[in-house]
Amino acid sequence: MGALPLLRAHVSRPVTTSPRDFETTSLPESLTVLNPATEEVVAEIPTVSPEQVAVAVERAAKAQQAWAALAPGDRARLLRRFADGVDARIDELADLEVTEAGHTLGNARWEAGNARDLLEYAAGGVERLIGRQIPVAGGLDVTFHEPLGVVGVIAPWNFPMPIAAWGFAPALAAGNAVLLKPAETTPLTALLLQDIALAAGLPEGLFQVLPGHGRITGQAIVDHPGVRKIVFTGSTPVGKEIMSRCASGLKRVTLELGGKSPNIVFADADLQRAAASAPMAFLDNSGQDCCARTRILVQREVYDDFLALVAPAIEAVRVGDPRDAATEMGPLISAVQRDRVRSYLTDDVPVLARGKAPEGPGFWQAPMLLAPEDAGCRAATEEIFGPVAVVLPFDDEADALRLANATRYGLSGSLWTRDIGRAVRMARGVNAGNLSVNSHSSVRYWTPFGGFGESGLGRELGPDALAHFTETKNVFISTED
Ligand code: NAD
Repeated sequence: MGALPLLRAHVSRPVTTSPRDFETTSLPESLTVLNPATEEVVAEIPTVSPEQVAVAVERAAKAQQAWAALAPGDRARLLRRFADGVDARIDELADLEVTEAGHTLGNARWEAGNARDLLEYAAGGVERLIGRQIPVAGGLDVTFHEPLGVVGVIAPWNFPMPIAAWGFAPALAAGNAVLLKPAETTPLTALLLQDIALAAGLPEGLFQVLPGHGRITGQAIVDHPGVRKIVFTGSTPVGKEIMSRCASGLKRVTLELGGKSPNIVFADADLQRAAASAPMAFLDNSGQDCCARTRILVQREVYDDFLALVAPAIEAVRVGDPRDAATEMGPLISAVQRDRVRSYLTDDVPVLARGKAPEGPGFWQAPMLLAPEDAGCRAATEEIFGPVAVVLPFDDEADALRLANATRYGLSGSLWTRDIGRAVRMARGVNAGNLSVNSHSSVRYWTPFGGFGESGLGRELGPDALAHFTETKNVFISTED
């Protein structure tokens, strides 16, 4: 059925590929993958039907039993080979990411490297997934981390490779099988990762990529009783729906959802540094970043000085061909996403900075900084998921905290101050899962990541990542005669 040999970088003519080992004849529809920088069709990918999902679950369950029975060192070795395979094909993976997602080449290479790093990190955890011995009278009490079985990973289009790997790498390392459903617009890197896993020697059926529509293929994975955990990254409404569907089978669920993160600049901050960071803190990945710092809150006494630094920097951001090394921002993923972003650009919200974007084919949107008078307006409260931020003034710490927490989300945020006490007070006060002080860095695979409020449920990454894919079993062994 050879899906992946047909996947090539820079394919400008339509190609047809199929998910490995599925009959293509009965597939209901296909996904048309476009290059968002050119609007050219780059691939047609058949979707996986609910019946095929059921077959995939059966195969995964069989593969999982053999996988969990392997010696930990052997499992770790195979995952390291998988990581090596990713490393050897970073250029190809990055190229596909640029082609299907419009990411800049530098970002795409980082993303493929992140998937490799995750696999290496998870492989290093296999032998460290240790239980405890708990003191009891009359016996020995020990805990085990048992794998869950089959895990469904439902990934979004904004960071297709890393976010898929945040789920599949620790899940596999903990002894589970994985069904990965990539987003409709970005299935190509996932299919190549599946090929790399097989070439590395992972058993058939252990890691299967099932492209398809969320409401058909995704839902079939969520609803299947043989799938014991769903790791979902995407929008908050879909996350809520998935959680309620998981409830009937008491399925484990991790949700990584949206964000509307603050970037809080105090008057005592290094303004040059804060201003240098602010544009890409919301424009990276064309603003299609759940951690994007899209609410810039600036202490009133430095508001004008700060904007005098930031506005020209936003206007100077180089938007264009994602393959050009000088490009800082590429296109949006789709026409739908571009139209959604534009719906927030209404005449009643003043524009403080307006960048440039190419004309013509491609889903382009210029960077924008808005200064709404009403902090409760749509642009200031809803996740736009595009290259648009708002700026709002504040008076003091209490006011900054009130504005920062005036959101139903709580994923990330940055604080800029030279006052260590203030940094700690603010970091403790902001309701968000990932905060950075004098930086806009959010994600390191070895530190925990996840959201407060409607930004999600549970945590990914970090030292506990593997344990999240296990059930703790307690065993008491009597020592009485
Ligand atoms: P989306 O919710 O539409 O889709 C995400 C994935 O879920 C896709 O694979 C889609 O096919 C699938 N899906 C959709 N409906 C489904 C259903 N009923 N059952 C099962 N699967 C279903 O989101 P999107 O448009 O792909 O991504 C954008 C959103 O994701 C933004 O809101 C963004 O903030 C959020 N996001 C969050 C994080 C995070 O880590 N917190 C990371 C990336 C994206």
